[in-house]
Amino acid sequence: MAEAVLRGDADSSAGACESEWARVLGHLKEEVGEAAYRSWLRPMSVVERIDDGEAIVAAPTRFLRDWVATHYADRLLALWRAENPRVTSVSVIVTGIHRPNGLDRSAAPDDEANNLRRPIASRPELSGTLEIGEDKAQLSALDQRFIFENFVVGKPNQFAHAAARRVAEACANPVHTVPFNPLFLYGGVGLGKTHLMHAVAWHVRRHACDRKVIYLSAEKFMYQFIRALRFKSTMDFKEQFRSVDLLMIDDVQFISGKDSTQEEFFHTFNALVDQNRQIVISADKSPSDLEGLEERMRSRLGWGLVADLHPTTYELRLGILQSKAEQSGIRIPQKVMEFLAHKVTSNVRELEGALNRIIADMQLIGRDVTLESAQELLRDLLRSCERRVTIDEIQKRVAEHFNIRLSEMTSARRARAVARPRQIAMYLAKQLTTRSLPEIGRKFGGRDHTTVMHAVRKIEELTLSDRALAEDVELLHRMLQT
Ligand code: ADP
Ligand code: MG
Repeated sequence: MAEAVLRGDADSSAGACESEWARVLGHLKEEVGEAAYRSWLRPMSVVERIDDGEAIVAAPTRFLRDWVATHYADRLLALWRAENPRVTSVSVIVTGIHRPNGLDRSAAPDDEANNLRRPIASRPELSGTLEIGEDKAQLSALDQRFIFENFVVGKPNQFAHAAARRVAEACANPVHTVPFNPLFLYGGVGLGKTHLMHAVAWHVRRHACDRKVIYLSAEKFMYQFIRALRFKSTMDFKEQFRSVDLLMIDDVQFISGKDSTQEEFFHTFNALVDQNRQIVISADKSPSDLEGLEERMRSRLGWGLVADLHPTTYELRLGILQSKAEQSGIRIPQKVMEFLAHKVTSNVRELEGALNRIIADMQLIGRDVTLESAQELLRDLLRSCERRVTIDEIQKRVAEHFNIRLSEMTSARRARAVARPRQIAMYLAKQLTTRSLPEIGRKFGGRDHTTVMHAVRKIEELTLSDRALAEDVELLHRMLQT
């Protein structure tokens, strides 16, 4: 507690602060159990609480700090606020490097990463982030929810997930190997690319904290590069990237068409590959489909392993909802989850948004959710998902797209050339309208509801294995929604 008295105005609150901390720890111990408490929480000590609401605690090692930040940040803040509502954030410092308050802040106001104090939890919108790395690099915050344990694996993402795990394990291994370089993850928005990349970073941080890991978006890469050019510090810029063990750049589509950034990225990339350092890249398209990328860059990106995240299936969406509901500790009826999994098909982010709205409603209003109340609550959201597309419209668009007669939608012909588009139309009808299976069947020449169900399954399956078909479906989906 020596540090606490370094600052005169903290003196008076030091005692109160210590007893608050003791109570916070007491509660947390009850929650996490004796063993976890002994390993992770007991070594922590309180430093001070500053008048503006920031509480500071100390961990003896960097590893412990990161662990506590990852696992207990939210609870620490919540419990502390229950003790003292003035507390708005909790920061963890590593003992031995704490300097009197004020020095930390004035040291390098412009450079977050130079600040030795790490906020581990603060107001809700900021909670759950943690900066990694100690150097000048402005690293992006890692979301502590984005770990492998929270990633639900299903057919559409199992390959990408396995590849990411493999890279994480290889990188954390004492005998550092590079299974494939680069790992290139791609897929549409909200399908889990960033989640997987953060998970790799967390895994390596946790199991091999001496490895230097940099994760940042391509946008940030460019921004830093431009800044380095402006401040004539390009040597430093190059150095910081070239000494890493694992470099992860998210959303590289961002640098397409931006020639000098691309050039710099290409050199960094080559330097790291030559030194056998692991690189992980994400983008919204495959290397060959990325536009505005130099040819040599494109081919180099495809050298390692290219793994894509496919659009979600009903099963995966349901699995994700169940896992999220479990994590939130709130019981949500199966029917409601099935409803959501059916209706919110665009991406996982929207699915989470819908679930969060339901959870918030339950907590605020204090009532149980039913299928009806969920429908009511999500009406706007669902409407924007649906945009009131009609089955007639779907049939027309699909027929046009595949260049077949509209009458084939209702005909009995079973030739693949007409049967497949018909199945796609049924699938889209299920996805985009609120019609039931029998209703859809009737609109398709009086077919049975099991035929519709079969079509839906078939198309879901095919979108996983047949890239061209998946693209057709996605395109039609998008066209019908606008
Ligand atoms: P992307 O980077 O591909 O746009 P994100 O990784 O940001 O997508 O994912 C969007 C949201 O969906 C995140 O909150 C993420 O945790 C969640 N998410 C995506 N896929 C999964 C999954 N398979 N299991 C659990 N959560 C997922
Ligand atoms: Mg992302």
